[in-house]
Amino acid sequence: RTVYVNGRYVPESEASVSVFDRGFLFADGIYEVTAVLKGRLVDFEGHAARLHRSLNELNMHLSLNDNALRDIHRQLIDKNALQEGLVYLQVTRGAADRDFAYPEAQTPATVVAFTQQKAIIDSPLAERGLKVISLPDMRWGRRDIKTVQLLYPSMAKMEAKKRGADDAWLVESGLVTEGSSSNAWIVDHDNTLITRELSRSLLHGITRRTVMQLAKAHDMKVEERGFTIKEAQNAREAFMTSATSLVYPVVSIDQRPVGEGQPGEITRALRRLYIEASLEAMDA
Ligand code: PMP
Repeated sequence: RTVYVNGRYVPESEASVSVFDRGFLFADGIYEVTAVLKGRLVDFEGHAARLHRSLNELNMHLSLNDNALRDIHRQLIDKNALQEGLVYLQVTRGAADRDFAYPEAQTPATVVAFTQQKAIIDSPLAERGLKVISLPDMRWGRRDIKTVQLLYPSMAKMEAKKRGADDAWLVESGLVTEGSSSNAWIVDHDNTLITRELSRSLLHGITRRTVMQLAKAHDMKVEERGFTIKEAQNAREAFMTSATSLVYPVVSIDQRPVGEGQPGEITRALRRLYIEASLEAMDA
């Protein structure tokens, strides 16, 4: 692969970052993952806007504007002949002597980006559906900032796999916040879609927003509120959303089948609508 590091496109074997990088020492960095379908970016504007929000919340400075960022994404897609998959972009506060206090503001950020191939549209998981387990949400209190501090989500995913499941839904004060790397949704017996309201407790998913707009445009009811694991187990359908999974059905929660224990009709319809809308709105 050809990857991007601080202004240069290099073979991955030649890419390097300082051992003093604050991303490495303090997880002092943020990232975005943008899906690529048919060689084009899906909702780059949304991901760029969230990147700036994360940077602002952490007082991090990036000298690249959105056009420059978009160009990096497109060049990586071209240089790697990527048809379907993702572009990962990471920005850290740069390299400086190890100190908890931030270095001087003019310390250049470290910017790294690379592509990864992934079958998104024809994903087997979309057909099979996912088994999830519930775990306590033990992450920090600013989950709305997309930081590279991903150890707990990683542990949650491993715990799910250890128990024969695919992923974990995280629970705080009795209510589901989100999945380890996705937003969590249920469909109740009136066909109302329910997903937790935005706050500092969860990531403001770009896919969540688009799915919500599509649902409303198709006269589906959407309620933004928290729900319990029990309510989810008793729901008609459950699903999750993220940039590279799009819409994935959830077929069991803590070993209890949701609905028929099969991917639900509304979930399938939303996935289809999402794919159609993404291909139509495709970045030129
Ligand atoms: N929540 C978390 C914790 C995530 O890591 C992700 C994926 N990055 C999401 C939600 C979904 O966000 P998006 O739709 O923007 O990919």
